[in-house]
Amino acid sequence: MTQHTRVLIIGSGPAGLTAAIYCARAQLSPIVIEGEPSSTTDQPGGQLMLTTDIENFPGFPEAISGPELMANMRAQAARFGAELRITKVQKLDTTSRPFKAWLTDDLEPSITADAVILATGARSLMMGVPGEERLLSHGLSTCATCDGFFFRGQDIAVVGGGDSALEEATFLTRFASSVTIVHRRDSLRASKIMQERAFANEKIRFAWNTQVTEVMGDDRVTALRVRSTVTGNEQVLDVTGVFVAIGHVPNTTLVTDQLDLEENGYVRTGLGSFTSIEGLFAAGDVQDHVYRQAITSAGSGCIAAIDAERWLEAQGI
Ligand code: NAP
Repeated sequence: MTQHTRVLIIGSGPAGLTAAIYCARAQLSPIVIEGEPSSTTDQPGGQLMLTTDIENFPGFPEAISGPELMANMRAQAARFGAELRITKVQKLDTTSRPFKAWLTDDLEPSITADAVILATGARSLMMGVPGEERLLSHGLSTCATCDGFFFRGQDIAVVGGGDSALEEATFLTRFASSVTIVHRRDSLRASKIMQERAFANEKIRFAWNTQVTEVMGDDRVTALRVRSTVTGNEQVLDVTGVFVAIGHVPNTTLVTDQLDLEENGYVRTGLGSFTSIEGLFAAGDVQDHVYRQAITSAGSGCIAAIDAERWLEAQGI
């Protein structure tokens, strides 16, 4: 049977759950579709579930872990009456209002909604080299928090030069004997504080100007084939684990043909969280390729909730 809601929130990272807290407190009884624990890159709670200590979310002077922060946000949304469901939206039809969402293969939509807040986030970018897909979860990972423990006493690599790569590498030194950061340039993109921490860590090494060309191994990672971006010379790096931390792509599959997207695939928002479809609002990493912080994502969830609330009121819905 189709259920109707005033606000459907898709996604349960900081954007989705902050929107849920605000919508619930505004008596809009939102339904939150949280996603499914299907892989390390797509799960309820979003990317913070794959993060260790968060030191820059205001209000936690001693830091808080990503999963703990998300559990708190979830409990806060539930306390005010948000209906949270661990499942996925299979299909979304925004061609007419109320919008229709399917959680199953049924012909009838599972949910109709006067307004939708899209907060589906982003997921890890992959290198696209031979061996990568095959060895995912067999020595190749996108989540140090999830998998670091399995690499105790091993020599491993982290690919990338941004904050994620340095954060993962620093965390992984708790387990690994050595962590080599493989970066395609000779300078890092990461923030100064993360760089200083990594440079000061004696277990971390750097392979500068180096691009991975193959993840080697039959049923487990045994090495990386790498090429110098300066000389073109290839060599083999003996590592038994590799963590890919080279950025993200927005999760827009549900709306690709329905909504105006930026050239880089992120949802285009105008003022606040308004998208090209009236009644459909976007918040968090699915529309933000610039700031991408937990706090900015939470802030944009708040903006979307207020936009949706005022829009519903203006429509007299
Ligand atoms: P990012 O800043 O976009 O960095 C991606 C890195 O991967 C870059 O160094 C890039 O190299 C490299 N790269 C991209 N494609 C590649 C490829 N195909 N092969 C090899 N290398 C490739 O992404 P991020 O590190 O995930 O960070 C995203 C945002 O989240 C940033 O704003 C960051 O500050 C934030 N963040 C913050 C924290 C924290 O404060 N604790 C932690 C994690 C992330 P180039 O440099 O050559 O482009």
